[in-house]
Amino acid sequence: MSGDGSLGERKQSNQAPITANGNGVVVPGSFVPYATTNNRLSVNPSKDHKPESYEDLQLEFSPLLFSSLEQYLPQPLLNGSRDSKLQYMRDILLRYSPEGERVRVQRHKEYRQKIISSYQPLYRELYTMQAANFFVPSFLKAITENTEESLRSIMSEPSQGVYTFEMLQPHFCELLFSEVEHFERWVHATKFRIMRPNTMNKYGAVLDDFGLETMLDKLMDDFIRPMSRVFFSDVGGFTLDSHHGFVVEYGMDRDVELGFHVDDSEVTLNVCLGKQFSGGELFFRGVRCDKHVNSETRPEESFDYSHVPGHAVLHRGRHRHGARATTSGHRINLLLWCRSSAFRELKKYQKDCFNWCGECQRQKNERQRQSITATKLEILKRSGKSTT
Ligand SMILES: [Zn+2]
Repeated sequence: MSGDGSLGERKQSNQAPITANGNGVVVPGSFVPYATTNNRLSVNPSKDHKPESYEDLQLEFSPLLFSSLEQYLPQPLLNGSRDSKLQYMRDILLRYSPEGERVRVQRHKEYRQKIISSYQPLYRELYTMQAANFFVPSFLKAITENTEESLRSIMSEPSQGVYTFEMLQPHFCELLFSEVEHFERWVHATKFRIMRPNTMNKYGAVLDDFGLETMLDKLMDDFIRPMSRVFFSDVGGFTLDSHHGFVVEYGMDRDVELGFHVDDSEVTLNVCLGKQFSGGELFFRGVRCDKHVNSETRPEESFDYSHVPGHAVLHRGRHRHGARATTSGHRINLLLWCRSSAFRELKKYQKDCFNWCGECQRQKNERQRQSITATKLEILKRSGKSTT
């Protein structure tokens, strides 16, 4: 589901640029919630608690978010009625959705409606999920079997946390490529002022804005979430509940390259749709939390990937990366930024040391090493004393 107004859609399309030398400052989209309630969640989850389902309710936040949050409710509330729990959690969540944000969401809805009511799609078959026509058989089979073993059998992990696999049929790539070109021609002919996918790309289009939202929701729910559950559980892979789907276009008369950055997503799917091009390699530089986003790259974290049409790359949004110059031809990539409102909410309660951040882990190991050395020294000193 994607629900406008979910936490996941809040920071729509803010990529945070990072400086290449690793010393710069990152300015993420700032957002100041105001307090309207003193309701608090507890720091320690009640792991044995069985949460209610909220799927049948019309809510301004994802039902999955409520289910995930439940185990963090204060003890006395845990066995209360579903309504009382819902009200308590909703009050907390509404703190993060002030008036200005609701207006923005409403305007964006109207903007989409305007496009969809006037734009005539070229290939209607793209607008509903038809898995057998979209995906290569190996990918479909692995997802249908849905085991770690079946998923690993189609994937390579050329660098830690970067997964690559064959995904889209050439015919589907061609249709989507043409649909995007058709949309661009419509934009040009009608002089419609469209919003570009993010702050860093001047070209490209938001697929969700011209009718592909439902199909992409399905793509996230039925295909990306099963994979993320296995490979990215540490960043909320199982609770992905909203997405931002777009294409980026590179070439001499388009965007040429893309600077070093992290995505506003928990998990990013990046699939090359073609066509003929050279250059445009993705470079990766390790996963980092907000605090460590500009820290040094270790040699083993440095990895370059050359796009192959139809092939996908799946990585954490916090995996620092960029795209080298596309030196000839024209390249279009499909991007799906998948977000988890539950992960984002829970992250606020964890301030230090993330197990998915390469730098947090390095520092933790360093502290352990120092404490072992100190202990060894202490033992040596004592045994020295006892023998004299
Ligand atoms: Zn960190």
